[in-house]
Amino acid sequence: MGAGEGADPVTSILCVERLTKTFYGVVALRDVTLSVGPGELVGVIGPNGSGKTTLFDCVTGYLRPDRGRVWYRGREITGLPPHWVALTGIARTFQTVRIFPRLTVLEHLLLAVQESQGDGIVARALRTPVTRRLEADARARAAEVLQLVRLQGLESRPATHLSYGQRKLLVLGMALMARPTLVLLDEPLAGINPVVAEALVEVIRALHRDGLTVVLVEHNLRAVMDTCQRVVVLDSGRLIADGPPEEVRRNPDVLEAYFGR
Ligand code: ADP
Ligand code: MG
Repeated sequence: MGAGEGADPVTSILCVERLTKTFYGVVALRDVTLSVGPGELVGVIGPNGSGKTTLFDCVTGYLRPDRGRVWYRGREITGLPPHWVALTGIARTFQTVRIFPRLTVLEHLLLAVQESQGDGIVARALRTPVTRRLEADARARAAEVLQLVRLQGLESRPATHLSYGQRKLLVLGMALMARPTLVLLDEPLAGINPVVAEALVEVIRALHRDGLTVVLVEHNLRAVMDTCQRVVVLDSGRLIADGPPEEVRRNPDVLEAYFGR
């Protein structure tokens, strides 16, 4: 498949078609078309400022694209607000890790569920049987997620006591609480040491083996090339390559984008 072909809203999990986003005359995304199939693990690479985060922002409702459309499992979701997009089954992480100073690891995971379910203060104060059941479900899910992201045993630890790498595992865990079908990870390996990075890559591989569809934006080219069966390259907001890592690595446009200037 060549760059920019392959929009299939019906059979794909995620499909973006001719997505364009401009900031005050700067074109952050230009006509980007891309489909991600069920169970795929797709890497998205590109130089700084090439539009990777903007792509995630347009898919998850944090930004409204100027043009183009987004489908998730055959339903158009273009322009839906972030919490609606989250409810459809798409989860994401952010480049910057935000941790709440006084909350434990477990409380972070439980908070992620309350946010996604819109379970407000009133419902919790009333402690209805429904909210009690939701809380029991959330705690059971948190126990699973702690295993998935390899933070078991640390649930009572204040999150501020975690290393930066462990915080990245925690935010990944928060994204997994709602049992998403698709996760979009924005530079999960940035700023962490190689040992923790390897552990995080292992977690991502395991999630993928369990059937989760993953789109991985990453600066660490080696990690992407080693982990993903398919790599998409953005350059100045354009999609310039889409294919297996060994093909993308030899693509002249990609070499030019990374080393040519
Ligand atoms: P990447 O994640 O690949 O580093 P971004 O998607 O963050 O790139 O940015 C793409 C381009 O859009 C850059 O030129 C960036 O400066 C610009 N940009 C991104 N977000 C904004 C914003 N909120 N306001 C203005 N310009 C932005
Ligand atoms: Mg970015």
